[in-house]
Amino acid sequence: MTFQDFNFDEQLLEGVLSMGYNTPTPIQSLAIPAIMNGDDLIACAQTGTGKTASYLLPVLDNICKTHNHHTTALVLAPTRELAQQIDQQVEGLAYFSGVSSQAVFGGGDGMAYEQQRRGIQNNVNILIATPGRLIAHLTSGVLKLNQITHLVLDEADRMLDMGFHDDIMRIVGYLPKKRQTLLFSATMPQRIRKLANAILHNPQQINIAISQPAAGIDQQIYRLHDQQKTPLLKHILKQGYQSAIVFASRKEIVKSLYKELKAANVNTAAFHSDLEQKEREEILLRFKNRQLPVIIGTDALSRGIDVEGIDLVVNYDVPPDPEDYVHRIGRTARAATTGTAITFVNNRDLRRLKTIEQLIERPINEKELPGDLKAIEPAKETRPERSGGDHKKGGRRNDRRYGKKKHTKPAGGDNKSA
Ligand code: AMP
Repeated sequence: MTFQDFNFDEQLLEGVLSMGYNTPTPIQSLAIPAIMNGDDLIACAQTGTGKTASYLLPVLDNICKTHNHHTTALVLAPTRELAQQIDQQVEGLAYFSGVSSQAVFGGGDGMAYEQQRRGIQNNVNILIATPGRLIAHLTSGVLKLNQITHLVLDEADRMLDMGFHDDIMRIVGYLPKKRQTLLFSATMPQRIRKLANAILHNPQQINIAISQPAAGIDQQIYRLHDQQKTPLLKHILKQGYQSAIVFASRKEIVKSLYKELKAANVNTAAFHSDLEQKEREEILLRFKNRQLPVIIGTDALSRGIDVEGIDLVVNYDVPPDPEDYVHRIGRTARAATTGTAITFVNNRDLRRLKTIEQLIERPINEKELPGDLKAIEPAKETRPERSGGDHKKGGRRNDRRYGKKKHTKPAGGDNKSA
């Protein structure tokens, strides 16, 4: 399948090709025709699968073909970072067709608020918003959503995790009943199904296997003691990686690690929830522009941060939620490139490692500690056996960049990933 097969508006197609997209990803091949057909859609797909373009393209195509000058599409996203990234993707894809968009999110200064307000008043075609800030504009009376024909919930599971359920329902109350609703989520727990039942109408369903990291990622673990972690990290960062993210589960660890790396002359920044919005944006910009080779961050960084060319992800500890492991390492090897993901595992984290291996359906390659670090006896406890699956090299591996399993079926059926 090619992008020409969708019969997109010509200028939109020009935008797609200028972004360097040649072949639709699996989620795009499945979602685009369904959305163009006017169906509601519930799609289980993580970042890195091309899910953003899978809903933006049919929405943009509709706007191009109807030549409308109203706000007809609303995308809700959990964080300002994601909202901004979606907005940037609209800008790229719509470069030749002139469809307008505005990201609406909280936390900025008065100027940012004013700019958002002006965008809203100018009837941009697409609004991309975090729920809280959108409600502020709705209640101030600036914003009317009575012409919305397309509602997208992106990273719906994350929005519910962040407590946006009531805000979402409130926003939906402002929208016309006759609309197309598209829900994207990396996971499909029961509460997402409930939300879908409440706001979607007879949706098509698409399931792109969520738990399989990109095939281009070389996943490795080191078994070690806590005191070996920082020396090993310094050693790894000297291996010539261009762009690296180091994840730690708590911001206290991020902060102290930042100090230690700085003292070792590593050009790095710490990214965590105590920073101002402006500081976070500045760090991400420097990272994207390759002025900053290393970021240390909590899981706040792990979802939705779309930076190409990250060649190393280090998990300073094993994330408690195996899905977070997939999200963290998904920051590398994006859009069919390659990358390395290294996880530090102490004895306490062995059980977590086992759950991750079960989720990704393969054992992770264990590396030997380098030279000096071998002086301390590595972690001794034996790794618990994984239950089920194939332990042999390769096992049931993931051999597709964008997920391996998919199906469409009408609403109301059972769903294995629920
Ligand atoms: P997403 O899953 O939407 O976060 O997209 C992940 C990355 O893949 C983004 O950098 C997109 O620009 C890129 N991308 C999306 N669709 C394609 C495609 N068909 N071909 C190549 N890259 C793509």
